[in-house]
Amino acid sequence: MIWRDLERELQQREAAGRRRTLRLVPEGTLDAASNDYLGLARHPEVVRAAQDAAEQFGAGARASRLVSGHFALIQQLETELASFKGTETALVFSSGFAANVGVISALSNDEAALFCHKRNHASLLDGCRLAQAKGAVTRYFESPDKLRALLQKSKSPRKIVVADGVFSMDGDLLPLPEVLALCGEFEAILLLDDAHGTGTLGATGRGIEEHFGVHSERILTVGTLSKALGSQGGFVCGPRVAIDYFLGAAPSFVYSTGLNPPAVGAALAALRLLQREPGRVRRCRDNAMQLATRLGELGFEACFSGTPIIPVIIGDERAALALAAQLEARGLWCPAIRPPTVPRGTSRLRLTACSEWGPEELERIVAGFSSI
Ligand SMILES: *Cc1c(COP(=O)(O)O)cnc(C)c1O
Repeated sequence: MIWRDLERELQQREAAGRRRTLRLVPEGTLDAASNDYLGLARHPEVVRAAQDAAEQFGAGARASRLVSGHFALIQQLETELASFKGTETALVFSSGFAANVGVISALSNDEAALFCHKRNHASLLDGCRLAQAKGAVTRYFESPDKLRALLQKSKSPRKIVVADGVFSMDGDLLPLPEVLALCGEFEAILLLDDAHGTGTLGATGRGIEEHFGVHSERILTVGTLSKALGSQGGFVCGPRVAIDYFLGAAPSFVYSTGLNPPAVGAALAALRLLQREPGRVRRCRDNAMQLATRLGELGFEACFSGTPIIPVIIGDERAALALAAQLEARGLWCPAIRPPTVPRGTSRLRLTACSEWGPEELERIVAGFSSI
C-alpha cells in the first residue's frame, strides 16, 4: 500500500528535521512571522466590513463568478485595486496562488517562452510547470545578465518574464528597472508578483513599482489580498484586454467559486484604510529596520532590505527548529523555515515586522533573542 511509503517518507523527513506539522499559535505569544504587515486583519473597520458584506451578499459567492458568483462589491474592489495600482483594470481570484497559476496558464501556448526567476514563489514555479504541459518552454534565471542571455537566445514571439517583486523568504527586491529594460529590449512582458510589496513598498504602499518610480504597459501585476490587506484572495492588474482574456481563459478563475463576500468586503475596507493612513507603510518599514539593527547587534545574521521581511539565517534545519522552540518558550512565535522552501544549509527564522508594533513589542522580541 502507498500509505506505507508515505509513512516511511514522513519518518525520513522527521529524522532530517524537515517534517512539517500544523501547530496552534499559543495564546499570548507575540506573532513575529505573520504577513499581516499593517495590522489590518483585526482592524475593527475591516472586521465590520466583512460582517456587513456577509449580511448583504451572503457567506459564500455561491458559484464561479462567470455563473452566478459575481456581485457589486467585488466589482467595486476591482475598480479600486486598478486605480490603486494605476492600471486599466483588475481581476480578483480566490487566492494569490490561484491568480498566479491561472494567469500563467492563460498566457501560455506552444509558442510561449517563460523566463522564471529561480527564487520565485511556489505558485509561480507551479504555474510555469503547468505551462509546459501546454507546450511552453520555461527557462530559469537569477541575475539580469542571465536573463539577458536567455532572452537573446529565444526566438519565441511570446516572451514572458515571471518574477516576484519581493522575494518572500529573503525579503530582497527584484532589480525591477533592469528587468523592465530587458523586457523592453526583447519585446517581453513582465508578470510581476508583488504579494509582499503591495501595502509595504513605496511612499504610499502601492508596491515595487512605486518604490522604483517605474510604470509600464508591459507589466502585469499579481498580488494578494491576504498579506498587507489582511483579508483573503488574489488579484491581477493590467490592461483591459489582458483581464478580459483571463476571465475566460484562466482555469482557476473559470472553474472555481468566486471569492466569498466577507473577504471582498474586508479587502475593500483595508484598501481604503491603507490609502487614508499611509503612515502605516512607513511605520512598518521603520520597525523592520529597527528590528534588524537590534538583532544584528546581538550577533544574529539579520538582513534588512527595505521590506518587512527579515530573514535570520541559522543554517542547519535542527538548529533552526531548536531556536524557534526556545523563542516560543519565551512567548515569541516565529517558526523555522527549512528546505525545500529555502536552499539546503540556509534554514532560517523569517521575522516579519508589523506597523502596529510599538517599543514594547520590539523590546519583547529583542529580549527573547538576547536571552538565547
Ligand atoms: C503568499 C504568496 C502568494 C500566494 O498568495 P495567497 O493569496 O496566499 O494564495 C503568491 N506569491 C507570493 C510571492 C506570495 O508570497
